[in-house]
Amino acid sequence: MIETKIKQIVRDVNDFPKPGIVFKDITPILKDAGLCNEIVAALAAQLSEIQVDVVAGIESRGFLFGMSLANYLGVPFVPMRKAGKLPYKTVQHSYDLEYGSATLEIHEDAFLPGQRVLIHDDLLATGGTVIAASRLIEKLEAEVAGYSFIIALDFLNGRDRLLEFSPNNYALAS
Ligand code: IMP
Repeated sequence: MIETKIKQIVRDVNDFPKPGIVFKDITPILKDAGLCNEIVAALAAQLSEIQVDVVAGIESRGFLFGMSLANYLGVPFVPMRKAGKLPYKTVQHSYDLEYGSATLEIHEDAFLPGQRVLIHDDLLATGGTVIAASRLIEKLEAEVAGYSFIIALDFLNGRDRLLEFSPNNYALAS
């Protein structure tokens, strides 16, 4: 089962990026090409009931599988980046993280109005990051189609906060 495989391979790193945090390190997954393919297919299978026009991936680990997922679905991929990284005109939104704060940006022409955008990131913690991503999608008059994660840390109840934007949220492991 894919959830078991993910849980076995993801590495817990204590006290990263600061004391008291147990960081889920997904980089061991990337060494296993077969598992990467299985993950992309499993992410896509979870979306079979919803219309996705675009996949938006969040810097930086959201790019790893977000781009592959978009290719697999045959839809465009859009990067959402930290402040100051995107070259063209942007819109931005600031938000609180599990540790610290950040600003997320997107190119102003990333979506067409009304497009249904799936937000992908490697991991859901408090939900602050993908809520900022959702605000950006709203600012560009597109719609949040749903959320897709490899891992959701359910003890932080991030999923509840996403219901304001979409009932569709999926994770392969928790
Ligand atoms: P949230 O905004 O609190 O939901 O935190 C999620 C964001 O922080 C995502 O972009 C994750 O990549 C990152 N993040 C938080 N904790 C972890 C972790 O344990 N492993 C990998 N990424 C994490």
